[in-house]
Amino acid sequence: MENRCDVNGSKKASYSSDTEGRRSRSPSAIVIGGGFAGIAAAHALKNASFKVVLLESRDRIGGRVYTDHSFGFPVDMGAAWLHGVCKENPLAPWIGRLGLPIYQTSGDNSVLYDHDLESYALFDGDGRQVPQELVQKVGQVFENILKEANKLRDESSGDMSVAQGIKLVMEKNPDLMQEGLANNVLQWYLCRMEGWFATDADNISLKNWDQEVLLPGGHGLMVRGYRPIINTLAKGLDIRLSHRVTNIVWGGKGVEVTVNNGKTFYADGAVIAVPLGVLKAKSISFEPRLPDWKEEAIDGIGVGTENKIVLHFDTVFWPNVEFVGVVSSTTYGCSYFLNLHKATGHPVLVYMPAGRLAFDIEKMSDADAAKFAFTQLKAILPNASEPIQYLVSHWGTDENSLGSYTYDAVGKPREYFERLRTPVDNLFFAGEATSIKYTGTVHGAFSTGLMAAEECRMRVLEKYGDLDTLEIFHPAMGEEVASLSVPLLISRM
Ligand SMILES: Cc1cc2nc3c(=O)[nH]c(=O)nc-3n(C[C@H](O)[C@H](O)[C@H](O)COP(=O)(O)OP(=O)(O)OC[C@H]3O[C@@H](n4cnc5c(N)ncnc54)[C@H](O)[C@@H]3O)c2cc1C
Repeated sequence: MENRCDVNGSKKASYSSDTEGRRSRSPSAIVIGGGFAGIAAAHALKNASFKVVLLESRDRIGGRVYTDHSFGFPVDMGAAWLHGVCKENPLAPWIGRLGLPIYQTSGDNSVLYDHDLESYALFDGDGRQVPQELVQKVGQVFENILKEANKLRDESSGDMSVAQGIKLVMEKNPDLMQEGLANNVLQWYLCRMEGWFATDADNISLKNWDQEVLLPGGHGLMVRGYRPIINTLAKGLDIRLSHRVTNIVWGGKGVEVTVNNGKTFYADGAVIAVPLGVLKAKSISFEPRLPDWKEEAIDGIGVGTENKIVLHFDTVFWPNVEFVGVVSSTTYGCSYFLNLHKATGHPVLVYMPAGRLAFDIEKMSDADAAKFAFTQLKAILPNASEPIQYLVSHWGTDENSLGSYTYDAVGKPREYFERLRTPVDNLFFAGEATSIKYTGTVHGAFSTGLMAAEECRMRVLEKYGDLDTLEIFHPAMGEEVASLSVPLLISRM
């Protein structure tokens, strides 16, 4: 049986006009995806007096922001850091207003270091700690290698992978080659870089790897998790959980969005805020097809995988540093454990594999994945006690994400991110992959949601000849946010 609803889910017609031919109803929008981008868009459109319904495939909001409470305290299984602990961060007013504490893990620094160098404790495979001077010295060498690789790219018109660039630099500058333990530490730095991009160095574009914009203030962990912000933004919104969108008919007078339970929703415009992995998988069909330039961007931008295996212990047996790492002769063999005890006081280590390793681990059962992480730990800390609980994420295979976050693929122009964001008629695109400056971040996703909402507002009101009413609807961006400047609560031990 056909089940047709307007944006409110009722079965009456969506469009109506009064006797003078002017539209007497509110403009309407459907937001698809309840992550930071979608929730921000819906929040802004509602504030701009739109009728908004948000369709979310999961039985929860937040998307790749998911704060788990099953240990009795918050643990972020997706995003955990605020990248850019500063008032310029678009999330700062919300964090300040909610009084959420931030544990800073680095000062102003490059993409490569979300922790300051002195907070590392690295071990070799036999459990011997790498001397701190060596860690720092090789860190400097790694930076020099990347500087040389950047010179190479500036000299060439084409692109190559970061891995290829590093190889060429080593051949040209044998003095930068590292041997034995120093080489293992170098591989560890590269492994951390792969973690930042959620993919292996042979997939990352040398041309574009450093083109995203870093806000000042360094990186900070959200001690109470990201959940309070998303919950606050979602208050009062019409959110339909477990509504997986399967089909979107666009153009003409409006959009028609069908979900897996057979219901169809109608509105003037739609904000599409699903992950790029979902668009790549073509699990949503578009009628008519999206234009070639949009499909090219969807295919061309890379999506990588990073996961978290969270180990909860009954006692702390590891060094009092922000993270513990295992160095190895390949990046695949290196490991990284975030010490949440420093930030939260709970005896928790978070193992974070990325790229091919994350892909391989996702094929394991949760119990095996936890065992794998624990084995890495036991190799360097033989007195490690068994975890009492664990949590395992599956961002790469979860049909609601199909990847963790985007990266610049080799040979693909950065302009693809802008193309992905560019509206197509009454479809507006949002999400971390559409952020040109802050790709792969929560604040990037949030900003694109606001931007898509504003574009939708302008377009809908113009298209339907409601230009007079443009004045009476509030702009979709920047409302409450601009008036707030509550200082952030930042700590570090
Ligand atoms: C392990 C991990 C660690 C990370 N660490 C950080 C970090 O420390 N700091 C940081 O800033 N960023 C981090 N990120 C990235 C950050 O989480 C994302 O950039 C951001 O949350 C993306 O938000 P979004 O709204 O674009 O997408 P999402 O949050 O993925 O939201 C999209 C929504 O669409 C829904 N959806 C999917 N398909 C459909 C459909 N067919 N119909 C309806 N709904 C659908 C999904 O369920 C989801 O809720 C991390 C990500 C991961 C996975």
